[in-house]
Amino acid sequence: MASNSHGAEDCKSYLEDGFSAHELFNKGYSYTYDDVIFHPNHIDFATEAVDLTTYLTRNIVLRTPCLSSPMDTVTESSMAAAMAALGGIGFIHYNNLPHEQADLVKKAKSQRVGFVRDPFCLLPTDSIHKIDDLKERQGFLCALVTESGTVGSKLLGIVTNRDLDFVADRYTQVSEVMTPDIVTAPAGCSLEEATQILIDNKVKYLPLVSENDGSVMELLFRDDVKRIKQSPPLGSPSLGPDGKILVGAAIGTRESDKERLRLLVDAGVNAVILDSSQGDSIYQRDMLGYAKRAFPQLDVIAGNVVTANQARNLISAGADALRVGMGSGSICTTQEVCAVGRGQATAVYKVASVAKESGVPIIADGGISNSGHIVKALALGASTVMMGSFLAGTEESPGDYFIQDGKRLKKYRGMGSLEAMAKGSDTRYLGDKSKLKIAQGVSGVVADKGSVLRLIPYTMHAVKQGFQDLGVSSLQAAHNNCKSGVLRLEARTGAAQVEGGVHGLVSYEKKRF
Ligand code: 5GP
Repeated sequence: MASNSHGAEDCKSYLEDGFSAHELFNKGYSYTYDDVIFHPNHIDFATEAVDLTTYLTRNIVLRTPCLSSPMDTVTESSMAAAMAALGGIGFIHYNNLPHEQADLVKKAKSQRVGFVRDPFCLLPTDSIHKIDDLKERQGFLCALVTESGTVGSKLLGIVTNRDLDFVADRYTQVSEVMTPDIVTAPAGCSLEEATQILIDNKVKYLPLVSENDGSVMELLFRDDVKRIKQSPPLGSPSLGPDGKILVGAAIGTRESDKERLRLLVDAGVNAVILDSSQGDSIYQRDMLGYAKRAFPQLDVIAGNVVTANQARNLISAGADALRVGMGSGSICTTQEVCAVGRGQATAVYKVASVAKESGVPIIADGGISNSGHIVKALALGASTVMMGSFLAGTEESPGDYFIQDGKRLKKYRGMGSLEAMAKGSDTRYLGDKSKLKIAQGVSGVVADKGSVLRLIPYTMHAVKQGFQDLGVSSLQAAHNNCKSGVLRLEARTGAAQVEGGVHGLVSYEKKRF
């Protein structure tokens, strides 16, 4: 990793101005990211020279310091595949049955960005009525008609809306309306090759078909090609030792989670998170010990923690990384309900200071709503940031878009909301065997954010600009300069925060990129 760190001696020669992180975070206040602001430093390198390569855990390196949160409205296989394609990693949620979660891990690991691995398939004898049903539930673009009605079986034709519009008898078999002669591409061909075939033939849907037996393996949509073409180049993906993309998953700390863990390991998971809102518990120590004994090669991330003491306890129990944050999430009501937690800037700095001594990377989890928050988290000692709301509402997040008041929206809910807990996520918030469900989160909606394939690269470019302004060209340099006091900060008054945002305009449009 590139380094541009000034030593502590250089710091002494600086004009006394602002505070070191050590001074600022020991004044008895709990600061959020918005409460603090960094001073700029001298720049002697280009934005492109900033290297954000980092450690997710003691053993796993990432090119992009971004993680998607294990929440059922944030990370399933599409998000995990996209995050890994961008050099980060996604953590699949566990608000599902163990085998369903393991299947999502397998699916993510075999998913190629751009291609749909599980297109909607029908038997030739199925009726149009079946498509009408699907249309009502989740919308419909096209169906592939195959010999056995599944992927991996011989392709017979395709049905799109054009084939259905004027058919009065909705019990007509799809074989009677499908288009049998379709342009296809060979299974396994690259995205570039498939894109060229799609463009040359002016088709909207391109099935990828095995040359041996004509069975359909994947599907490429013209709209996805457009989306990828509008995004910056992806760069190299996060790959594991198996040559497949890195995929993470979360589990709880109950006895039944041991079986879940085994299924995840069998599915090829690369790192697991022990998911608790208050991770400094006997339950987490026990599960950590079990996971490290049963699967010594697996990296286990513990948390959440917000204090140095909590961090020490989980590091001594063998954590390979720590997840930091309590009550800072956008959908979270823990601080209101339980009166515990910490401002996220303070929590990140305090935990990082302890974890650094043991070589344990920390994940700044929650409270990220712009690139400036990411710069602050990383500069204060985090090695990666984990995001929920920032990624919710993207095309890769689970769930369908809906229109409300003319806006395109998607659902985003806390895993401690009553709605999510009703589906099983209560283990995160009810670590013991409590039967009474008290919500520590809410359920809401977020705006359409387009694709993460565009969102993350632009955001990372902004983060690099932030690092350039701080005069640090790598995470290591930022961490060193934060520790030595070369990086200077101040708390912002309420008025300073207002001044730091857009103000004084009658109206404006905020386009991020
Ligand atoms: P966000 O990025 O939306 O600000 O925060 C996401 C993080 O909030 C998650 O990674 C997780 O740590 C935390 N979280 C998710 N759901 C809930 C919830 O219902 N209650 C609380 N207290 N925290 C939540």
